[in-house]
Formats: sequence, structure tokens, C-alpha cells
Amino acid sequence: MSMKLILLGAPGAGKGTQAAILSEKFSIPAISTGAILRTAIREQTEVGRVAQEYMKDGKLVPDEVVIDIILARLQEADCENGFILDGVPRTTVQALALEAAGIKIDKVLSIEIEDEEIIARMSGRRVCEECASTYHVVSKKPSIDGKCDRCGARLVLRDDDKAETVRNRLQIYYKQTAPLKEFYSERGVLVTIENQPDIPSTTVKMMEALHGE
Ligand code: AMP
Repeated sequence: MSMKLILLGAPGAGKGTQAAILSEKFSIPAISTGAILRTAIREQTEVGRVAQEYMKDGKLVPDEVVIDIILARLQEADCENGFILDGVPRTTVQALALEAAGIKIDKVLSIEIEDEEIIARMSGRRVCEECASTYHVVSKKPSIDGKCDRCGARLVLRDDDKAETVRNRLQIYYKQTAPLKEFYSERGVLVTIENQPDIPSTTVKMMEALHGE
């Protein structure tokens, strides 16, 4: 069975966490353009220099940049049996570019969650400086405070998870990304997942949606 999935949802909805879980379950890669862009910034590549200017304010990186990145990534051999896209597409232009490249998405899982819940959650989010693993001070604590379970490096609050940037990112989400729900609904592949009290129950809902094919 082919498994070409997109996770939609506001920033902080838990896309990254669920993408990692589904990636393990189905042995397909979870692909985050945010993670790829943060690596480019760390490595000070040309793309990184451009992306940083937008990301520091919580703005979307221009479509051309993101489209190049994602189309190149989807050519890699590990995507042969499918993939989970986390944080891409974020605009209709990006979604159309995937279609134009002949990439047919099987399911789009949209995590629905209230703004207040998101703002509360985001302030507790931590990310590993080295390997980009994600944690949360309440719901996904590392074994040792402030240290990554995977590689032992320091955990930090991402600049774009700070409260004022979060508000900005939410506005951008509603304006530019939320219309993708209708886009994929028209294509018959959208499933909405209501916010659940914890990470495992969200995974259960997603698995039900995927098996209901
Ligand atoms: P994320 O890790 O998915 O929350 O992404 C962090 C930031 O990277 C976003 O706020 C955007 O500035 C940028 N970014 C990531 N993915 C995309 C995308 N598909 N389109 C435009 N900008 C993106």
C-alpha cells in the first residue's frame, strides 16, 4: 500500500510528534521543510541565508525556495514506499507544485486545535540544538532536564516558538495554509482529527483514519 501522507494543522498542533510516530510505524520518512530549512541556516548555505530572514519573524519562506527543496527531497530513494509531509505544503502554490510534479497524495490528516491551547503548548516546546528532536516540558519530557535523549545536546526554545511569533504564525496559518483543507477535501483525501487529550490518542485517531481506506 502506498502511503503518501500530509499532516496539516496550525503550528503547535503536534504534527512533528505524530509524523515521527507514523514514520516509525510505517517505515517511511517524515519530511519537515522546517527542519531542512533550520539545517540550511545552521550550515549557512545560500538557502539558509534567505530562509532566516523570513523564519525569524515567523513568516513563510518563499514558495520557489520550498518547492525546490521538497521536490528534490521526494526524489530520494527512501521516499519510494511513501512519506509523511510535516509542514509542507503550506500554500496552495506549493500544493499545486506537488500535483504538477505528479505526486499523488493518499491522505491528508488535519489536526484541529484551539488557538489558546496552541499558545499554551508552544511556550513549553523545546528542540535539540544538534539533532532537532522535539520535546515538551509538560507532555514529552526528556529523561534528563534540558538534554536530548537521542544525542545529549542542549534543548532550547526555538525563536519562532516565542509568544509574539506564535501569534504571527497562527495568523499566517489561517490565511495561507488553512485553505488547503478545502483544496484536499475537493480531492477527496482530507480527514480531520479533533484535538485529543494526549499524544497516543491522537495517534489512535490517525491510525483509524488511515485504516478506514
Ligand atoms: P515548522 O518547523 O514546520 O514549524 O517551520 C518553521 C518555519 O519554517 C516556518 O514558520 C516557516 O518560516 C518555515 N517553513 C517551513 N516549511 C515551510 C513551507 N512549506 N513553506 C514556507 N515556509 C516554511
